[in-house]
Amino acid sequence: MIVRMEVGIDPNSQLVTDVVAKAQQYGLRPDVRLEKGTHYPLTEIYLLDGERVRSCTVSDHIFRLPGVDTVERVTPSMVTLACNGVRDAHHIQLGQSIKIGYGLPCQPIIGPCTVYPDIKWTVRELAQMGIKAIRGGCWKPRSSAYSFRGFGRKALCWLLEAAGDNGMEIVWTEALESKHIDEIRRVKKEVGYTGEIGIWIGARSAGNQELHVELGKQHEFPVIIKNGIYERMVRQLFTRVEFVLAGPMHWREDGTLDEERSLPRGNNRIGICVRGTESLDPDSPFRFAPNHSLITTVHEKSWAPVGVDPSHSAGTMRNDLVLKNLAAALAYGPDFAIIEAGYPDDCHGRCDAEQNIPLGRVPEVLEMIAQHNRQSGLVMT
Ligand code: PEP
Ligand code: MN
Repeated sequence: MIVRMEVGIDPNSQLVTDVVAKAQQYGLRPDVRLEKGTHYPLTEIYLLDGERVRSCTVSDHIFRLPGVDTVERVTPSMVTLACNGVRDAHHIQLGQSIKIGYGLPCQPIIGPCTVYPDIKWTVRELAQMGIKAIRGGCWKPRSSAYSFRGFGRKALCWLLEAAGDNGMEIVWTEALESKHIDEIRRVKKEVGYTGEIGIWIGARSAGNQELHVELGKQHEFPVIIKNGIYERMVRQLFTRVEFVLAGPMHWREDGTLDEERSLPRGNNRIGICVRGTESLDPDSPFRFAPNHSLITTVHEKSWAPVGVDPSHSAGTMRNDLVLKNLAAALAYGPDFAIIEAGYPDDCHGRCDAEQNIPLGRVPEVLEMIAQHNRQSGLVMT
């Protein structure tokens, strides 16, 4: 639970002491914090689980005392993610000139679903359009056992060589399992790529806890977590983000957490991406039900940057659904947009070819995002 005091109330005031005393009376562990905030400082009291009492078992109305502005129920993950709240949203530096976070311009991340041998040509074309952040899948999770699963390590070499040759600042790719993190590290060295690499956790890896934990133990690669196909609630996403934020954990032989050795040292260069969830409407032209409104919830509840993938839920350029999807998502103010583009026109057999934005229409996409940034008065700081 988070108790937020009214603006102007000092952490040392009697009103705060009263809340703290009440929390102790109920067996909870109060943690008083003065959050700097972007606009004004605010006193917040985090009511953490006590030795014998879990915060979720105590009613919140108990803390609606004089001087209290709001009492918010949050899951344990939401406590970590809410530290500093939206008032101090994290801005994450990626490469030399790219920063993502709430209040900054929406950043495009553009590239093909899957890396094929012609990636060199695609990346050169994207670079000529001024694109500095690209995406490309090397290990592909598929719905059918008989579909192409990506060229793996070989594809990563092509992708990083192309990125290096064309001055890309950051390349995003998907890790399907923990061992891919090391593989990415080794290929980066082998190719001599000096830019940044970001790793995304795809919708089908929502249950892969080990991958989350391993990405949390390293600080070299920033991470984007996409919502799982059946993951409709922001708090489910936050629970997974927590595994990356937590970092290495140590437990004593009796199974209790050794807090001294388990200070939060995880990877906090992390963003969340909404990509649509299972569609319950058999007549919908969308492959997945768009869930753009979660962008607002994440912004309100956490400091984490949140972006959109308008490609996978739309699933077709035939009716320009990808672009309509992007336009709808921009209304919610995503901090970044990951968009599949860059296959040649004749690419029918390729992975996710139906939703590919042909290279010729990429400038249109860039202009949509640029126009949104201009109209929203978003400038890079
Ligand atoms: C992808 O980005 O190509 C991908 C497989 O995405 P998702 O995990 O969202 O389906
Ligand atoms: Mn794809």
